[in-house]
Parts: sequence; C-alpha cells; structure tokens
Amino acid sequence: MKRDAADTTFPAAAGAEPAVCRQTIDFLGIRVDVLDTGGLCDRVLALARQEGPHRVMYVNADCMLIARHNRAYRQALNRADLVYADGIGVVWGARLWGHDLPGRSTGADFMPAFCRVFAGHGIRLFLLGAREGVADAAARRLVAQAPGLQVVGTHHGYFRPDESEKIVEQVNRLRPHILLVGMGAPCQELWIERYSESLRVPVLWGVGGLFDFLSGRTRRGPQWLLDHGFEWLCRLLVEPRRLWRRYLIGNMQFVYYILRQRYLARDRDG
Ligand code: UDP
Repeated sequence: MKRDAADTTFPAAAGAEPAVCRQTIDFLGIRVDVLDTGGLCDRVLALARQEGPHRVMYVNADCMLIARHNRAYRQALNRADLVYADGIGVVWGARLWGHDLPGRSTGADFMPAFCRVFAGHGIRLFLLGAREGVADAAARRLVAQAPGLQVVGTHHGYFRPDESEKIVEQVNRLRPHILLVGMGAPCQELWIERYSESLRVPVLWGVGGLFDFLSGRTRRGPQWLLDHGFEWLCRLLVEPRRLWRRYLIGNMQFVYYILRQRYLARDRDG
C-alpha cells in the first residue's frame, strides 16, 4: 500500500520488524531500492537500531548524470545500503526500462513525519551541512514539528578537508543514531564514503539541500506543482543562476541519455 509522506502513522511508529531484505532494480548502472516513502521510513528506522555504519543515499536525474562520469560517486551509490529515488525523472526513466518504482520520496516532504517516528523511538539526529546557521534553524523547526525529537548537534557544511576529523570526533562524542549530511551530491556521498569507518553512527544519510528547505531559507513552490513532477521548475525559478544549467541542460541530457541507452539495449538484444 502506498503511504503518504505526510502520514504520521507509518507502521514503524507502532514498532515494525527490521526490514532486512532489499528489493532493488538496476537503473543505468545504479542499484535503486524499490520502496515507497513508508517503506523508506521503516528501513531507516531498522538500520538506525542496528550497529552501523549504514549508508543511505538518493538519486535524481542530476545524480544519474554525475554518476555516469564520476566513478567514485557511482561506487559510493552502489555500496550504499539503501538508495531511493528522490526525483520524478528517475521514476519515469525507470518505467521506460520496465521497472516499476512506487514513486519519489523527497526529504522536504517526508522528514517532519519521519522525525515524529524517530522521536517516538528515541532516535538521535545530528545535522551536518548547508550555510552557517541553516542546519540549526532546520533543527529548531523539526523539533517544533516533532516534539521530543533529539537533535544532538549541528554543523555547517563549509569546512576545510582538514577539519573533517574534528567534525567526526564531535559527531562520535554526541552519539547520534542518524547523521544527516546535506552538502549536495556528490560531495556528501564521497564524504560519507571517506569517513564511514571512523564514524560510530548507525545511519549516514545524504540529504542534499534539505536543511535549506526545512529552515525556510529556500522556498519550494506550490504543492500542486511539486506533486505533478515540477519540483525542478520551482527550484529553477527560486535559484535560476545556480540551477539553470542543472535543470535546463541537465534534464535534456538525462532524457537523451536514457533514450540512447534504451535504444542501444534494444539493438543489443536484437
Ligand atoms: N553545501 C555544503 N557545503 C558545500 C557545498 C554545498 O554544505 O561545500 C550545501 C548547500 O549549502 C546546500 C546543499 O549543500 O544546502 C546543496 O544543495 P543542493 O540542492 O544543490 O543539493 P542536491 O540537489 O545535490 O541534493
């Protein structure tokens, strides 16, 4: 059954069994999990209660294009314990290959509801990423929406490579169950990959620009546009200078890429 991101009564809230078995598809060389938003919540909660590190990552059209040329990023995605579709392009593209992904799961939609589940289970979070003060503001809003949620620390995402060890120590000292890393793809996935053995945290989760949205720093656009596959258009209108290349050129490249791969595969299979 499909569950709505805003649904606060995911089975996990009632104490679901840890889900261990992955059902995945191979989409353009990336292993993507077949699960809906409720299933994602169950899985993350199950992973957070086990010894880690478990890596949770997402893919959208932009990520697929980056992964095509960036081997380290592609490997990081394929080594993750869970990879979900956060963009409608991946869902539609996968459909073209005969794979049925239940839909996209977008952090800005589901995170408040997930946090209510986490609060009920005593799951502690640490937020790492975004500009100074943004993760803090996001944490305050999450706690307001999920009373009892424990956010044990935050840190901005603009640090020098030689500061990473200090941040790892700080995170380990505060003992979160889930570290949300919001530094954009592929930076966050490579950081997670690099420090996953030093971090004593059950779940390391790349979340992109989530803190900007949760904090209210970046507007998201009308819900009906978001619900009909136009999140990219809303983002483009809000940040045209930063994102025009990603969406105007990237979306066309992505469509070309999947059609070409499809055509080549058909040719190969006779
Ligand atoms: N960011 C960061 N450190 C950096 C570069 C970016 O913390 O060195 C943050 C940035 O402030 C923003 C997020 O990473 O909050 C990237 O957002 P974007 O929407 O581009 O992520 P994606 O679309 O890749 O998920």
